[in-house]
Amino acid sequence: MTKERTQPERENPYRLLPSVDEVLQDPEVASRLDVVGRELGLGLLQETLDAWRGEIRAGELDAAGLRERLADGGLRRALARRLLKDHKSGMTRLVNATGVILNTGLGRAPVHPEAAAAMEAAARSYVVLEVERFSGARNRRDDRLSVLLSRLTGAEAGIAVNNNAAAVVLTLSTFAAGKNVVVSRGELVEIGGSFRLPDVMERAGVHLAAVGTTNRTRIGDYREAAGGAGLLLKVHTSNYRVVGFTEEVGEAELAALGHELSIPTALDLGSGLLEPARATPLAGRLGQEPLVLDAVETGVDVVMFSGDKLLGGPQAGLLVGKREAIERLRKNPLYRALRLDKVAIAGLERTCELYLEGRGDEIPSRARMIAGESELELDAERVALNLRALDAGFETEVVVTEAQPGSGSAPTVTLPSRGVAVSHPELGPDQLAARLRAAEPPVFARITDGKLLLDMRTLLSGDVERLTRAFAQTQLTDEQADFLDATRGSKARWD
Ligand SMILES: *Cc1c(COP(=O)(O)O)cnc(C)c1O
Repeated sequence: MTKERTQPERENPYRLLPSVDEVLQDPEVASRLDVVGRELGLGLLQETLDAWRGEIRAGELDAAGLRERLADGGLRRALARRLLKDHKSGMTRLVNATGVILNTGLGRAPVHPEAAAAMEAAARSYVVLEVERFSGARNRRDDRLSVLLSRLTGAEAGIAVNNNAAAVVLTLSTFAAGKNVVVSRGELVEIGGSFRLPDVMERAGVHLAAVGTTNRTRIGDYREAAGGAGLLLKVHTSNYRVVGFTEEVGEAELAALGHELSIPTALDLGSGLLEPARATPLAGRLGQEPLVLDAVETGVDVVMFSGDKLLGGPQAGLLVGKREAIERLRKNPLYRALRLDKVAIAGLERTCELYLEGRGDEIPSRARMIAGESELELDAERVALNLRALDAGFETEVVVTEAQPGSGSAPTVTLPSRGVAVSHPELGPDQLAARLRAAEPPVFARITDGKLLLDMRTLLSGDVERLTRAFAQTQLTDEQADFLDATRGSKARWD
């Protein structure tokens, strides 16, 4: 019996677990912890040891197993993995190979380098924001933006808030607090991310007066419900289409009714397509996507659209229209809570200027919409060649694909594209996709027909090389990847 008690499996595994102090004796571990800051490092170490305690409790780890683990550097490795995971969480640049150009989950529109430069400079310095530099008089932060938006859209004035959802809230609250808002039943949309128009109306303190039916609404329906209403609202059904036996009231007709009854009218466009001078028209490619310019011309008081959808700027909600209506929006105390910061305004001003300078085609999201198939084919061939040159067993095939504008812009439209279908003898598509997401930079792709598919339409400048780098890392062991990351530091996240 005494003999058995000395056998390792009868040993108390908890007593083999090192204390925090003992772990810190290892200079390599100690220096690693200091890289992230001692406090956080100790917390992660504690978590690592707690996880092991949990394994022991669950009967998954006995003394012999623990001894073995400790002997071959298992604690260092586990700690390194935990540090790495923590370090790699959070925002970082990625390669979008999904084929969805405006992908809300991936940050929507990448802005033009000159807009990005303006944003960086604004972030790093004091700026002329609420002062007019020539007179020194107090100014409004988006006065210049208002001028630029007018020039771009033909509207009398403009104002900008945090996003288009905020623009809708501001409009409802300004014109219809405590009153009815007349909307067609065919337009009671959910935009995604829990933005449902009826719920938003309730929170904005207005009453929904839904008119017509899902598929047909006539001007008489609006007229009947308009008595005492604060606002007549039209919502562009961005992310779906009602087809078949349908009828809807045009913006011009609604604007005329509002004018006749002295009730303000507003149009939530969602995407906001612009066709500025000297830019390649998108209209043909994007089906029936309405133009901001046309919407303004119909005479509605307020037209709303996002800054980071088809416009291709930073996140914002832009409201353009009649001067008097815009002034009322500005006077609403809610505007103060929804307004933009200097960084976004700097990016938006530069984005609008680029359009006005005739450089609209350079705006990255727009450039990706108009990129020609032959250019995409060349990119696909380069990617396929690079991946094969890694000599890591990747099999590639250049294929015809369909990309999408995304973010509810032109939901029924696809853009012809090229992709590279990738397979690997040992890594299944899900496994490969997971390793690519963990690489530096992470790559997001889609899986079709049991293969990983890289769509070329969403690649930005330099992404072909980044893709190759990421694929090379899918072949590394955890330890190698860890070493690579440790030598690059956290700044590398934005390379
Ligand atoms: C996208 C969209 C919104 C929301 O815009 P955000 O800028 O994402 O807040 C609102 N209305 C419509 C019709 C949209 O398409």
